[in-house]
Amino acid sequence: MAAQDTFKALLLRQDDDKKTQATLETLTVADLPDEDVRVAVEYSSLNYKDGMAVTGTGKIVLQWPMVPGIDLAGTVLESRSDAYKAGDKVVLTGWSVGEKYWGGYSQQQKLKADWLVPLPAGLNTQQAMAVGTAGLTAMLCVMALEEGGVTPESGPVVVTGAAGGVGSVAVSILAKLGYQVAAVTGRESTHDYLRALGASEILSREEMAAKPRPLEKQRWAGAVDTVGGEMLARVLAEADYSAVVAACGLAGDFRLPTSVMPFILRNVRLQGVDSVMCPLARRTEAWNRLAQDLPMAQLEQVMQVVSLEQVPEQAAKIMQGQVQGRVVVDLNG
Ligand code: NDP
Repeated sequence: MAAQDTFKALLLRQDDDKKTQATLETLTVADLPDEDVRVAVEYSSLNYKDGMAVTGTGKIVLQWPMVPGIDLAGTVLESRSDAYKAGDKVVLTGWSVGEKYWGGYSQQQKLKADWLVPLPAGLNTQQAMAVGTAGLTAMLCVMALEEGGVTPESGPVVVTGAAGGVGSVAVSILAKLGYQVAAVTGRESTHDYLRALGASEILSREEMAAKPRPLEKQRWAGAVDTVGGEMLARVLAEADYSAVVAACGLAGDFRLPTSVMPFILRNVRLQGVDSVMCPLARRTEAWNRLAQDLPMAQLEQVMQVVSLEQVPEQAAKIMQGQVQGRVVVDLNG
C-alpha cells in the first residue's frame, strides 16, 4: 500500500459505559465515507462544539465512530462533482460535519461538494482556519447588526464571551469597521489581549451576568452575544431604542430569562445567528467579507497552532473556558 493511502485521524468511540474515548488512528482511503470530493485536509480548528465532542460533553456526536472537527480547509485530491477538481483549495464549516458526518481531524476526508466553499481570494488554508466556524459566526453576527441598521455612528456595541473564539473575532472585525466595542470577559488575564484586538472598554462577566430589571439604562446600539442566560437578558434590558442583538451562543446558559419589555417598549431586535445550516450564498458572502474586513495579521498574532495529538488536551481546556482566541489544528504538524 502506498504511503499516501494511509493517513492519521482522530477517532471518537464510545466505550461500554458510554464514555467517549479519543484515539489517534491510521486510516486508509477505503475507511472514508462514500462522498464526492476527497480533500487533503491541511488545517482544522478547535471550536466549543469540538471541545464538547472530544470530551464527550452533551450529545454532539450523532454517529459512532466519529472523526470530529466541525471545520476544515485543504486541497481537493479527487472529485466526482463538476463543482470541484483536483488542486482546488476549499473551506468547510458546519452542515453537521464532525457531529453526524466525519470531519476535519483527519489528514484526508471525503465530503459532499455542496458543503464546500472555494477558499476566498486573499486567504490561505491556515488563515481560513484561524477564522474557522467561530470567525464565520462572528461575521454573520456583524452582518446581522448591519442589516438591522446599526452603524459605527449608532453607538457602542457590546461583545460577550469576548476572549473566546467567536468573541475575539467579533471584537476584531467591529473595531476594524470603526465601532466602539465593549468587551465582556470573566478573565482579567485577557484585558490586554482584548484591548489589542480593539476593545475600548472592558466589562466584567460578574457585572454583566447580574440579573437585570426588565429595562435598564440604555447602553448598547448593538450586541454580539455568545453566552446566553442572564447575560443575554441583561444585554437586552440595556439595549438602546431600535438596537440589534445578535445571539449565537450558549457558553453560559441555553436559557433566556427575559421579558417582552425591550421588544415592545424599545423596538429591540433579537436576531438569532446560525452558521451550521447557513445557506451557501450567505456563507460565501460572509467569507468574502472576512477576507476583506478582518485584520488577518492581528488574528494570526494571537492564534495558537496545535497538532492533532494535542487536540484532546486543548478540548478539555476549551470546556474549562481556558482557551483565548482561536486554536488552529495543523494536520501535518
Ligand atoms: P469559546 O470557549 O472559545 O468562547 C466562549 C467564551 O464564553 C469563553 O472564552 C468565555 O469568555 C465565555 N464564557 C465561558 N463560560 C461562561 C459562563 N459560564 N458565563 C459567561 N461567560 C462564559 O467558544 P466559541 O467562541 O467557539 O463559541 C462560543 C459560543 O458560541 C458557544 O456556545 C458555541 O456553541 C457558540 N457557537 C455557535 C455557533 C452558531 O452557529 N450559532 C457557531 C460557533 C459557536 P471570557 O473568558 O472572555 O469570559
